[in-house]
Amino acid sequence: MRSVTILGATGSVGQSTIDLIARDPDAYRVEALTGGRNIAQLAADARRLKARLTVTAHEEAREELAARLAGTGIEVAAGEAAIREAAARPADWTMSAIVGFAGLAPGLEVLRRGGTLALANKETLVAAGSLVMETARRHGATLLPVDSEHSAIFQALRGEDPSSVERVIITASGGAFRDWPLERLPEASPEQAATHPNWAMGQRITIDSASMFNKALEMIEAKEFFGLAPAQIEVLIHRESLVHALVGHADGGILAHIGPPDMRHAIGYALSWPARAPLPVERLDLAAIGQLSFAAPDAARYPALALAHRVMEAGGAAGAVFNAAKEAALDSFLAGNIRFTDMAEIVARVLDRFLSTEGRQIAILDLDTLIEEDRRARAWAMEAVAEGSARTGG
Ligand code: NDP
Repeated sequence: MRSVTILGATGSVGQSTIDLIARDPDAYRVEALTGGRNIAQLAADARRLKARLTVTAHEEAREELAARLAGTGIEVAAGEAAIREAAARPADWTMSAIVGFAGLAPGLEVLRRGGTLALANKETLVAAGSLVMETARRHGATLLPVDSEHSAIFQALRGEDPSSVERVIITASGGAFRDWPLERLPEASPEQAATHPNWAMGQRITIDSASMFNKALEMIEAKEFFGLAPAQIEVLIHRESLVHALVGHADGGILAHIGPPDMRHAIGYALSWPARAPLPVERLDLAAIGQLSFAAPDAARYPALALAHRVMEAGGAAGAVFNAAKEAALDSFLAGNIRFTDMAEIVARVLDRFLSTEGRQIAILDLDTLIEEDRRARAWAMEAVAEGSARTGG
């Protein structure tokens, strides 16, 4: 029986992970489940899966969680430190599915104990690529990609000599506004941005898909995970979201990974790796699908892609700065303080400011430095939001 911990258990990826684990109760023992504000879900899953420990990120929610689990014997804890402690507890397999920069520190705890970390939280590698890879190496930890594109690359690389890889091509659906006239983009609302043509995902990543900040994060994540040069990473619009990534080799051959747009494939692959286990996902009928389409992304519609290239070229703390500015800009968009198209402008301004003052290359940054860079970039983003409102009189 394998012990598992799910960080971000109440979210979209967390729930898909639970779906797989709950189908095979004799194979898994749940060490810890962590969540945020969705206490009812967290408590229900903890009861159902007989978790040993349950943690909410919010101190003020501890009482409600304890009340819902009264009499079960399940340990209850709350707060950021308690989530890190949950991650540090031994478990054979840990899912990292907290959203945003908050996922970094708990993920590092898993790597420090030499554990196996299934990484959905892309911000971990974007903000701290070299620190994460070096920590995994030093402690003999295993890092498995769960982002569908990275799982696809990982699968396509199996048995291949990494030195023969010429390029990787990450596909993108184009998001909610792929067919909107460009001039309408400034008026797009958060509700409109939070609908995805193919995938059912959390609100933030879905909006990031519409802006392609999600793809920008994935490019940086691919660079860090697979040790690629920026020029080796390409993005292709693929409206059907069935080919998740392609790997081009030195002999001109391209290996593509095709699968249904269901995160349980990538999660299940990481769960049973290095084996493959049967999964409850749709079997594609390619004859019925008939055609797959590919197109180059439009740089004017998706400015986030060019920003990702700047971040990859800069290295050092640029990823942490980029991610923090993006998270702050997204918060402002969700709060109705800026327009959809302002997000890329704000991130570009924060990046300009960072690169013009201290775009220094540091191979390995420690967590405290990264947390400091993250805080400052968020503050810069909020300054940019305020300057924008002052200019427009908003
Ligand atoms: P969701 O928003 O659906 O879920 C996020 C999870 O993190 C929830 O359990 C939430 O708790 C918890 N959480 C939120 N804030 C904090 C915090 N400050 N500290 C601790 N826990 C917190 O996100 P997704 O499942 O969509 O995405 C999770 C990660 O996986 C993201 O990094 C995303 O980019 C990545 N990913 C997601 C994919 C998808 O299909 N959804 C695909 C590939 C990657 P609560 O809800 O209880 O408040």
